[in-house]
Amino acid sequence: SEQLTGQLLSDRLSREAFERARAVIPGGVNSPVRAFLAVGGAPRFIARASGPYLYDIDGNELVDLICSWGPMLLGHAHPEVLAAVGAAAEHGTSYGAPTLAEVELAEAIIERAPVEQVRLVNSGTEATMSVLRLARGITGRDMIVKFAGCYHGHVDSLLASAGSGVATLAIPGTPGVTAATTADTIVLSYNDRTGVREAFARYGDRIAAVITEAAAGNMGVIPPGVEDGIGFNAFLADICREHGALFISDEVMTGFRVTRTGQYGIDGVQPDLMTFGKVMGGGFPAAAFGGRAELMQQLAPVGGIYQAGTLSGNPVATAAGLATLRLATPEVYAHVDAISAQLQAEVGAALSAAGVPHVIQAAGNLFSVFFVAGVTAVPDYATAATQSTQAYAAFFHSMLEQGVYLPPSAYEGWFLSAAHDDGAMNRIVSALPAAARAAAQ
Ligand code: PLP
Repeated sequence: SEQLTGQLLSDRLSREAFERARAVIPGGVNSPVRAFLAVGGAPRFIARASGPYLYDIDGNELVDLICSWGPMLLGHAHPEVLAAVGAAAEHGTSYGAPTLAEVELAEAIIERAPVEQVRLVNSGTEATMSVLRLARGITGRDMIVKFAGCYHGHVDSLLASAGSGVATLAIPGTPGVTAATTADTIVLSYNDRTGVREAFARYGDRIAAVITEAAAGNMGVIPPGVEDGIGFNAFLADICREHGALFISDEVMTGFRVTRTGQYGIDGVQPDLMTFGKVMGGGFPAAAFGGRAELMQQLAPVGGIYQAGTLSGNPVATAAGLATLRLATPEVYAHVDAISAQLQAEVGAALSAAGVPHVIQAAGNLFSVFFVAGVTAVPDYATAATQSTQAYAAFFHSMLEQGVYLPPSAYEGWFLSAAHDDGAMNRIVSALPAAARAAAQ
């Protein structure tokens, strides 16, 4: 490694780059959370990445706990993924015509997840946008139920009480999204079954679908709660079925990450429709939505519901996704699960030792740390929003100064990879006590 101590050299070049970026890109970034607004300071500009490390343009080596917000399950610049990408690119980068590789990626998804057909798209946002159109087209109904703090990308109708960057910036909805666009969106509290029952009692024959993150990961990690032995997702699937609505599980973040399947591998709830992204694109713009064949067949060109994309099924992205899924062996998941459990324990111990109130929650190997006081669990967005973002900012900056790159927001999950080895884990663990003390102040 270029820089062995874990102490940062400088961030001068990143600061200069940020100035230059802000002149030509709003906020200097192409996705809001990257701007560090929630934690203060200038974001690091990244020059390259390898395994568990990011290298910024000042030459600092940072252990990466974001993994591109999920996709890099195998770590950065995995040689076999790069080889697949290189081989694909040499054969041309886009054809606008079908390829065998797309069929193979669709088959790889269907082999892992409980869907019979998928349509490939370019981002998670496109997947959720398209799946809502499909659900509305199939049912002939208008209304969609979503949960506060769940983020499904920047789809207009879903930007009511969304998580991720929207939660981070505390934007209560978004200017530019019209009242008419969100009028058919019902926003309920996550894990609140009474609210769901009431919504169906009132609008049961108008609700096209309930969309939920399979496990919430964009307001911090909030797993679906279990009541009387029945998980929240199973409850949602049942109530949808009773009322002729479709149950959509958004596994863009959890899919192929928290298990080989995703959250489905944990709770086994069969959705009507699903969305995927992140890991299945292997670090390239690729995503998908899928479901039972009879539902997916309603899409054009078989059915009448239109959906399309110039770059959909792009051969380079498809090659990266396929290589990533094939290389995600049971050993990969076992390793990520083990280091996630280890890190959760170490973070908890360091925060407790420093007297910092906190709750750590996980959905499989995806976890986050809530700097909340007076509660033992965080079941919903309202509770997540009580956390101390100042404590998180202090914790974040201490970790960064010690060479560990956490999500620059208290509302995001921590992502690990198969490439996080003992060296990377030791760097993280040894940085925790000082960061916990910083958070205590
Ligand atoms: N759905 C979920 C659960 C997500 O976490 C995200 C992104 O973080 C999206 C959808 C949107 O995906 P994308 O950013 O690729 O548009």
